[in-house]
Amino acid sequence: MNPVAPGGTVGILGGGQLGRMLAMSARQHGYGVVVLAPLGDAPAVGLADHAFRAAFEDIDAARALAARSDVVTYEFENVPAATARAIETMRPLRPGADLLAMTQHRLDEHAFLHAQGVPTAPGVPVLGADDLERGLTALGLPAARGRLKAARGGYDGGGQWTLRSAEDIARARTVVASGGAFLLERDVPFSCEISVIVTRGVDGAVEVFPVFENEHRDGILHLTRAPARVSGAVARRAQELARTLAVASGLVGTLTVECFVVGDDVLVNELAPRVHNSGHLTLEACNVSQFEQHLRAVCGLPLLRPALVAPAAMVNLLGVEDVRPVRWLGAERALAMPDVHVHVYGKGASRARRKLGHVTAVRASLEEAVAVAEAAAAMLRVAPPAGPPVDSVVPR
Ligand code: AMP
Repeated sequence: MNPVAPGGTVGILGGGQLGRMLAMSARQHGYGVVVLAPLGDAPAVGLADHAFRAAFEDIDAARALAARSDVVTYEFENVPAATARAIETMRPLRPGADLLAMTQHRLDEHAFLHAQGVPTAPGVPVLGADDLERGLTALGLPAARGRLKAARGGYDGGGQWTLRSAEDIARARTVVASGGAFLLERDVPFSCEISVIVTRGVDGAVEVFPVFENEHRDGILHLTRAPARVSGAVARRAQELARTLAVASGLVGTLTVECFVVGDDVLVNELAPRVHNSGHLTLEACNVSQFEQHLRAVCGLPLLRPALVAPAAMVNLLGVEDVRPVRWLGAERALAMPDVHVHVYGKGASRARRKLGHVTAVRASLEEAVAVAEAAAAMLRVAPPAGPPVDSVVPR
């Protein structure tokens, strides 16, 4: 139970922006950083002392990472269970492999939530055609709108089919017939979506961030508001649920609980056993960032009690269709705005809908923070691909 003190090494599975910001915090605190990331653009790699460029399925690479680490964590929840278990035989993996496996499967996740008495949207497991037909009837679909969600592998709205029409139902039948496990869910009339980031230490101490409100566009997070525009009772309820789930799951590290607010009820949608896009604004808007808090937890160090210093908003900067290298236009205008913080992840290529950076604004009021973050994000654009060199253009 000895803490991993500064000077030790933190292993991170995954090389994306969450890993990069985690690595920055680890470096600030004097830790060495090793990263395992598949080949390709991996913004965390530049921050690492050593990077293993291998698939997450590569158990030998995972063992090599563990051998160089004092503790291992991850920024990506689709790390295969076999990899997680192999690491766990060598070093502490935080959060642990059981929790990771549970959150990788929507049906296991729902069963866990229900066992804790935590409400979700009405849903039924679908393992075949009969389940689908029974589920459609039980949930009143498609008259009531709903959706079919693949049990595994969904991310940023992928692996999900909305059910609103007879054609949608026909498509769902084809999807189910092709095999796999699914969750069939009725849509809930939420007033907003919120996330609660909860951290639990090795000693069992639990700390919860203020509740954030999330707006998605096409299944991808667009805007986060802090604090969420919900009543005190709803915020307390959401934080209490997150605390319950942290304890019941045996969490060490960070768990993000994504919820729907329906009237005065809080329904849990999804769990992510990691730092989260909706927590980026904690870097500037809270007394402790989600990355530092996570680092403290996985290293066995004391947690801080998170608090919002001022209202804040975060807007994601998404890529446009294939452009490389990525050069940004408008940075000088965005950076001239007071209390605006621009984060660019250094990805080498822009693709449509790819997360390339984000902007956080911290202001005296939430409305101002949102307006300023949106305005700054709108100024920042990926430069179009450069044309051919001037001297190769033949004058007409
Ligand atoms: P998920 O992959 O489960 O996080 O879903 C992606 C997004 O789809 C959510 O953030 C919601 O905006 C929407 N969504 C998912 N499930 C439901 C539901 N049962 N009712 C209404 N909207 C939903």
